[in-house]
Amino acid sequence: MTLGSNVAVRLVMLGPPGAGKGTQAARFARTHGLPKISTGDILRDAVQAGSEMGRAAREVMDAGRLVGDDIMIGIVRERLERPDADAGFVLDGFPRTVAQAQALDGLVDDSAPLVIVDIEVPTDTLVKRLAGRRICGSCGLGAPPGATGCPKCGSALVQRVDDNEHVVRERLQVYERSTQPIVEFYGRRHTFRSIDGDQTEDSVAADLAAAVASALGARR
Ligand code: AMP
Repeated sequence: MTLGSNVAVRLVMLGPPGAGKGTQAARFARTHGLPKISTGDILRDAVQAGSEMGRAAREVMDAGRLVGDDIMIGIVRERLERPDADAGFVLDGFPRTVAQAQALDGLVDDSAPLVIVDIEVPTDTLVKRLAGRRICGSCGLGAPPGATGCPKCGSALVQRVDDNEHVVRERLQVYERSTQPIVEFYGRRHTFRSIDGDQTEDSVAADLAAAVASALGARR
């Protein structure tokens, strides 16, 4: 399925931690030549670099809570101003609050709509997935289940500090409280779609592509 080369795709991926947002966002972005903007990655880079923002965000992230709206909106505003976002983008991990969602509407012009896709996965599956998730200790790449080293650089795999079971449950609760209202915020739009994330990666990718095409078709 193709989307037509002149259609700017501005995709917002919603879904709880562990739903596969990051993986699917990366795949979709690669296929369509769009920048993937992941606020979690931007924050982790800042933590790694030891910047002032990174130092402030670290404690909040390690506890599984949300970094403040003003900081997050500032990060995304700056990123969307970069020229590579002109032709479209895939947002992963933002917005996470209704205030962020309202701010995002103000950050984009009306030349192309936001397409919002919510990936739904049952809670038990999420806890299992997150507790088993491993990333590269050196480059941060997510590793497929059963991998013994980083598929890209071969370094040892580690668990994300916020993927231990206690923090996972906190993150899922934070999602319910803060992020679920976003699904209601966007739910009335013609460009909102839900897809089933409890399938193979390829099936979710196919459903995502179909959902985006249908959302863009629906507005014409
Ligand atoms: P993620 O990789 O998307 O699961 O994000 C990891 C952590 O970064 C989250 O648990 C939050 O602490 C923080 N974070 C990422 N994106 C946001 C956001 N849009 N608003 C607030 N906090 C965020």
